[in-house]
Amino acid sequence: MIRAYSHPNCARHHNPNSSVEAPQRLAAAFEGAERARTSGVDLDFAYSAPAPREALEAVHSPGYLDDLRALCEGGGGYLDGDTATNAHSWQAAVLGSGAAVSAVEGAMQGGVPSFAIVRPPGHHAGAHYAMGFCLLNHAAVAAARARSLGAERVAILDWDVHHGNGTQDIFYDREDVLYLSVHRSPFYPGTGRLDEAGRGKGRGLTVNVPLPARSGADRYAAAFAGVLLPVLREFEPEVVIVSAGYDAHRDDPLGGMALDETFFGEASAAVAALARELPNCAPPALILEGGYNLRALSGCVEATVRGLEGEPGRGWEYRAEQAPAPVREAREALAPFWESLQP
Ligand SMILES: [Zn+2]
Repeated sequence: MIRAYSHPNCARHHNPNSSVEAPQRLAAAFEGAERARTSGVDLDFAYSAPAPREALEAVHSPGYLDDLRALCEGGGGYLDGDTATNAHSWQAAVLGSGAAVSAVEGAMQGGVPSFAIVRPPGHHAGAHYAMGFCLLNHAAVAAARARSLGAERVAILDWDVHHGNGTQDIFYDREDVLYLSVHRSPFYPGTGRLDEAGRGKGRGLTVNVPLPARSGADRYAAAFAGVLLPVLREFEPEVVIVSAGYDAHRDDPLGGMALDETFFGEASAAVAALARELPNCAPPALILEGGYNLRALSGCVEATVRGLEGEPGRGWEYRAEQAPAPVREAREALAPFWESLQP
């Protein structure tokens, strides 16, 4: 069984600074999940509740939360060049974080792979700031909830085409939350270089795999098999939260990458299989991030849901002699922190 959490009021948020992060994204994603269900996947839909204030405060500063809420409840306003709100945005964002909390509870307490199908996205939002269409960092809120449920090691895997600078910032010096991202670089928001590897006790626990524009399934599969999956296996998280963005799809108007739906089905199957294989690891909790071509978004969500229940397809084996240069370079840069990446 798979659980999906969402709320129709996530569609009431309107960002006047973006034509692509549109309310219709919610219905498109939902339809993809529904197609997976009608074709036989055992998928159960539930409405999300707003995230409790203490769950938000585990990540965001009280002052930021108060200001954002006041801005929205006053009718909305401008936050950055890409990000603005209307009167419903606070509620939509809090329902988004609430769905993420429910997803991680569904995974850890219910033992079922869970998917928060929400908007606006979250991974560019930091403790004190909104950015890049994002108001509240749902994945970070979910990770904090996982810690409060007793998980000692939590991983966040971010496959959105953009680097999740907000999530990275929030956990940069923490040893309890591993952040892994594969993303286009150089690209918005400008972070996510190989040498951004964490600080203090968090040194080595930020894992960035930057890929050039137009990367397709071969490069991405090598990034998963050569870096992301071995590091996850070595870290032994008790839950894997996925920042599931679909803007690396070849038809996305922003991303400039070359993936298709099939890749995301394989990626979700690989993460679900890894979680089954690890001792004491819950099934994955996924949270929708970007993805701005409605048809592609719908197809990718469908493939992801199917992947969660299925077996991984063709094995993604890492072959050093055939590995693309960006993946080889990432392994070399991160090898001092991870035995599994050492030659
Ligand atoms: Zn994105």
